[in-house]
Amino acid sequence: MEADNSLIATIRDELKLVQRVLIISHIRPDGDAIGSLIGLGKALMDAGKQVEMVISDGVPTNFRFLSGSELVHKKPHGEFDYRIVVDASEVPRVGSALDRQPGVDLNIDHHITNTNFGRNNLVLTDAAATAEILARYIPSLLSITISPDVANALLTGMITDTIGFRTGSVTSGVLRVAAMLLEHGADLSQVYYKGLVQHPFPAIRYWGAGLGRMQSEPGIVWTTLSLKDRAAVGYGGRDDADLINVLSSIENMDIALIFIEQPSGRVKISWRVCGQSNVDTDVSQIAQQFGGGGHRAAAGAEVDGGIEEVEKNVLNATRSYLSVLLGEPVSLEH
Ligand code: 5GP
Ligand code: MN
Repeated sequence: MEADNSLIATIRDELKLVQRVLIISHIRPDGDAIGSLIGLGKALMDAGKQVEMVISDGVPTNFRFLSGSELVHKKPHGEFDYRIVVDASEVPRVGSALDRQPGVDLNIDHHITNTNFGRNNLVLTDAAATAEILARYIPSLLSITISPDVANALLTGMITDTIGFRTGSVTSGVLRVAAMLLEHGADLSQVYYKGLVQHPFPAIRYWGAGLGRMQSEPGIVWTTLSLKDRAAVGYGGRDDADLINVLSSIENMDIALIFIEQPSGRVKISWRVCGQSNVDTDVSQIAQQFGGGGHRAAAGAEVDGGIEEVEKNVLNATRSYLSVLLGEPVSLEH
C-alpha cells in the first residue's frame, strides 16, 4: 500500500497553510467512519489547527467511548479554509454535510467504488481501512507524533473494518500498523470489546427476529429485519446491529445478505462475502446495480420499495451474479 510521493507532498504543503479545517464522514457511520474522523480530527488539533468534525447522523452510542466523539456535530457551523472527507466513496454518502460548502479539497478513502470527487484524492483501495491510511500517513503529513487518543480512534477503524483482523484484507503490514498504534497508547482490548464485540441487550433480541426468519439456498444466505422487529424489542437504530457478521460466518455459503426495512418506504441492503467462500466474488458490483457501492467483500445500497419486492429483485440479481461467476445456467425465482 503506497501513495504517490508527490500527492503526499502536495497535501502536506496545503495542510501547512490552512487554519480552519472541516472534516466529514459518511451517513450511517461505522467504526472506520468514526475512527477516521476522530483520529484525523484530533491529529489536526495536535498540529495546531482549528477543526470541526461532522457526520450528518451523529456518533452511534457504541462509539461514544472514544475521546473526541463529544466534539462531532451533525452539521458544519463555522467558516473553513479546507474541507476533508474520510471513508466515503462518493459525495451523496455524506448526506447534507457538504451542502453550502464549495467543494472537497481532500478525499481520503479505501473503497474501490470511490469516484475521486476531491481536488486531491488519497484513495488506496488495498488498504484494510481508511484508518490504516491515516495511521500510515498522519505522522509525515502533519509532522506530529500519534497521541493515545488518535491511536485509539484509528485502531477502532481498523478493528471494525477487518471484523477483528479476520478479513482477507489483513496483511502483515496491517498488523504492523496496528502494533504501531498500540505502541502509541491504543488500548486494544477496550477498542476490540467496545467497538466490535459488545452490543446492547435489545440488539441481540433484534438479531433473534432476523435469525428466526433466515433462509438459504446453495451459496446464498439471507434474512430481513423490519420496523416492527425494532419496535418489538426497543432497538433504537435503523441498521442491522451487525447481524450480517453472524450470517457471513455460516459455513458453505458464498454471499450473505440482509434487507433492513427503513421508514418512508425504503430498504437498506447489506451484502457480505462469507468468510470461507472460495468463489472470487465482488459484491460491490451487485450493490452498484442498485445505486450503492462498497468493497469486494462488503457492500451496501438503499433503494425505494417494499421489503418483499426489494428482497425478490435483489436476490435475483445476486443469484444471476453468482451463477455467471460459477459458469452455471441462471435460474431465477419470480
Ligand atoms: P454496510 O453494509 O455495512 O452498510 O456497508 C458495507 C460497505 O459498503 C461499507 O464500506 C459502506 O461504506 C459501503 N456502502 C454501504 N451502503 C452504501 C451506499 O448506499 N452507497 C455506497 N457507495 N456505499 C455503500
Ligand atoms: Mn472503511
